[in-house]
Amino acid sequence: MVQNRESESRKLLGRLRDAMAEDGDGQQRLDKITKLIASSMQTEVCSIYLFRDAETLELCATEGLKQESVHQTRLRLGEGLVGLVAKKSKTINTADAPSEKGFRFMPETGEEIYSSFLGVPIQRLGENLGVLVVQSKAERLFSSDELYALEVVAMILAEMTELGAFLGEGEALSARHQQPVLLRGTTGQEGAAMGHVWLHEPRVVVTHLVAEDPETESKRLAEAVDTLRIGVDKLLAGAAGGDGEQIQVLEAYRMFANSKGWMRRMEEDIANGMSAEAAVEKEQTQARTRLGQVSDTYLRERLQDLDDLSNRLLRILTGQGSQTGAELPTDPVLVARNIGPGELLEYGRSLKAIVLEEGSVGSHAAIVARALAIPLVIHTETITREALNGDHIMVDGDQGIVHLRPDDNVTTAFRDKIAMQADAQERYSAIRDMPATSACGTTIAMHMNAGLMADLPSLSSSGAEGVGLFRTELQFLVRNQMPKRSELSALYSRVLDAAGDMRVVFRTLDIGSDKVLTYMKPNDEPNPALGWRAIRVGLDKPGVMRMQLQALLRAAAGRNLSIMFPFVAQYSEYVAAKAEMDKAMERERRLGHPLPEKLEIGAMLETPSLAFAPQAFFDEVGFLSIGGNDLKQFFFAADRENERVRRRYDTLSIPFLSFLQGIVARCATSGTALSFCGEDAGRPVEAACFAAIGIRTLSMRPASIGPVKHMLRRVDLNELRNIIEECHEKGAESVREPVMDYLKTVAR
Ligand code: PEP
Ligand code: MG
Repeated sequence: MVQNRESESRKLLGRLRDAMAEDGDGQQRLDKITKLIASSMQTEVCSIYLFRDAETLELCATEGLKQESVHQTRLRLGEGLVGLVAKKSKTINTADAPSEKGFRFMPETGEEIYSSFLGVPIQRLGENLGVLVVQSKAERLFSSDELYALEVVAMILAEMTELGAFLGEGEALSARHQQPVLLRGTTGQEGAAMGHVWLHEPRVVVTHLVAEDPETESKRLAEAVDTLRIGVDKLLAGAAGGDGEQIQVLEAYRMFANSKGWMRRMEEDIANGMSAEAAVEKEQTQARTRLGQVSDTYLRERLQDLDDLSNRLLRILTGQGSQTGAELPTDPVLVARNIGPGELLEYGRSLKAIVLEEGSVGSHAAIVARALAIPLVIHTETITREALNGDHIMVDGDQGIVHLRPDDNVTTAFRDKIAMQADAQERYSAIRDMPATSACGTTIAMHMNAGLMADLPSLSSSGAEGVGLFRTELQFLVRNQMPKRSELSALYSRVLDAAGDMRVVFRTLDIGSDKVLTYMKPNDEPNPALGWRAIRVGLDKPGVMRMQLQALLRAAAGRNLSIMFPFVAQYSEYVAAKAEMDKAMERERRLGHPLPEKLEIGAMLETPSLAFAPQAFFDEVGFLSIGGNDLKQFFFAADRENERVRRRYDTLSIPFLSFLQGIVARCATSGTALSFCGEDAGRPVEAACFAAIGIRTLSMRPASIGPVKHMLRRVDLNELRNIIEECHEKGAESVREPVMDYLKTVAR
């Protein structure tokens, strides 16, 4: 019986392959296939419905239903049994279709005489392409063998659809991957750019779907799985003693690679006429479908693992490595599910934009993209499935929108947007070397934020006077192991060389919260942002901080040095950190190394508590820099990483501005130098308000220096301060609106 099922299924697949090989257009092929399936399965009806757009299915070919209804009958997703199969990605098998819940009668098709119905989704790697249906008059349930056969055929159909086998005149037959798509994600880094898709992990294209000889295929699969197992074992051996999470993932890989169920299902598919790669892909498709249905994080991760493993296996079987021979376009837009900071750095500035399916605003990749000033859109669901290497793509990082294969209208509008930005950049470059002096004569010092060697060229091109925040953790994040002191010292030395006479403020390691080092033991904390991070780690486990302070002193080699400690929440933490610095100095002195000519030690004000520290703190600290990103999240109790709440509270609200004014006043009393280095410093309206309340140094992304300077040079800070005062007196919630009204009057 099984033997019979296998040979029947093989025969059908063989016939399908022959039908595909014959000349003819897409419609003729579809017609032939419906005939073949109906006769093989001994049903009166076989129909193929394909998606016309994301919401509409269209009857594209039928054997048995009225031919006039082809390309006329359409169903919304979820409508009728066919729509339900597509919506739920689930097979429907019923002996009495008309009495089934959700049934919708379509008179134009003449289907009222058919009672039994079997519909299976046509899907590829989790993407729904359509529905394959067989119907018959006799009232009967289809057997599991019939069901299995139809699923196999649907999978082959999906592959053929993907390969463009059904392209033709009809619009419904145009390849999905040729249609324009608009995808909405989340802004990771502002800016607009266009170019051509470069898939970080190009998908494997399976062209060899149906095979004559199951034995050969079975052997090919076994050999490929062996290669895979050896590869995973090697990776595991290499990772032994290393990062726990990586080992966990590899262990899961090994478990799957040795899974009997996985192998058995693939063997079965091969016995039924599929090639080894088609069998792997069928399993992968099912895993992806499940992935879309489960919400449990652990299970999702395991299914994700299985997906990765299937990709590896497909690469082994098809010989398609990640090097597909495709050449990086001259204007690459990187498309990936996710990417690590190290990999991103390898692409460097060559990328025009980045689009990620996952990622987060505070992810390392986002930090690197920001450092490189590359527009980034994250949470762009389905992008890796929709995009093909070389597709034309436009990325609007400001709105978090991606246009894939845009039509002419979108292209023209987008070009205009880019041209406008280029005009603005030109305007900014004209004031690059001019001071940020306001209309009332106050000069604001403009510094830039950095964290990579690659940022340093911006020091001269952006017009910054120095580096107000050098995030040293980026060097730790982009590595797979703890950097050595000598490496760090060489890097810091190069940073100081590149900065010449300009001041660079090195912030000591700010890890924890979202910045997790893969090579450090993970902390399972309920609230990492409020947890063991930054200076707290530095003081509790001082080894790394000591190494870093030493590296900084060695790098300075007698030159001026500015260091600040992140996330200081109380005076005593500053005192303890400063004591570490004193010890490091003493050690260097003893060893005979030159000490910095001038050493400044400061702190970041990122927790509200520090604003209320004793006077002694303000007297002793060398300088203070407001880390607005963190300060704001703690002030409003609104997670900076949580899309739902992160934009809910306004920096220009009276409560927050009043709080900042209190800090300015305390610093003025003690003569403490104060700057602002959070993202808000790079926003022209916010920056103007900060200047109006008395903050005289701002540090921001290099790309923001032009726009902020342009704004500051036009505003009268006295007028702005009066507006803020009036809002206070009136009891307004925010100054934004009146400030914007005023700025419009000075805008050019
Ligand atoms: C901040 O919190 O504002 C800041 C500059 O530090 P980071 O964004 O690196 O936490
Ligand atoms: Mg911070």
